[in-house]
Amino acid sequence: MIRFSRLRLSGFKSFVDPTDLLIEPGMTGVVGPNGCGKSNLVEALRWVMGETSAKQMRGGEMDDVIFGGTATRPSRNIAEVTVSLDNRDRSAPALFNTVDELEITRRIERGKGSVYRVNGKETRAKDVMLLFADAATGARSTAMVSQGRVGALINAKPSQRRSLLEEAAGIGGLHTRRHEAELR
Ligand code: ATP
Ligand code: MG
Repeated sequence: MIRFSRLRLSGFKSFVDPTDLLIEPGMTGVVGPNGCGKSNLVEALRWVMGETSAKQMRGGEMDDVIFGGTATRPSRNIAEVTVSLDNRDRSAPALFNTVDELEITRRIERGKGSVYRVNGKETRAKDVMLLFADAATGARSTAMVSQGRVGALINAKPSQRRSLLEEAAGIGGLHTRRHEAELR
């Protein structure tokens, strides 16, 4: 299981200024008044892991994750989120498994889409998604339970429930690869 050790945001939703959060081992709670950005933080994590649905980000299009301005501050054109992973136990997939710490960055520029980097090197979105899917921490995995998700799980069709269970078991990545192989 991959452990998050740090989350950095800039221009992402309400986090317009560079924000650096250390995630210590153990349980982390995020507390604050309504609208202070708690859900935005969780969404930043899901986004950097490769979320492709703007709806999951509570937006109409993906550019909506970029700071959209307030009465006193102009909007931005770039949002960037970096998550650091503690890989001392070498649990990352082989492609990334040579270093103690992995830094995954996703950056979006208005109208130009997203670019991913792993430890500074540009990486395909698919490889970032597989990195997290293999670690059973994917953007849609059972390790990320968002508001309303418990109800959705109860109402899910058997096939949907099965894919959730497979992700929990850490075999979601295998299915993504099999599907890719079949398409070739
Ligand atoms: P609650 O306790 O009600 O769940 P919360 O702490 O989870 O609140 P969030 O939903 O994370 O709060 O943050 C909402 C705030 O983020 C709102 O003030 C909203 O205007 C702001 N926000 C969301 N997207 C953007 C954006 N693209 N640009 C600027 N601000 C944004
Ligand atoms: Mg919230």
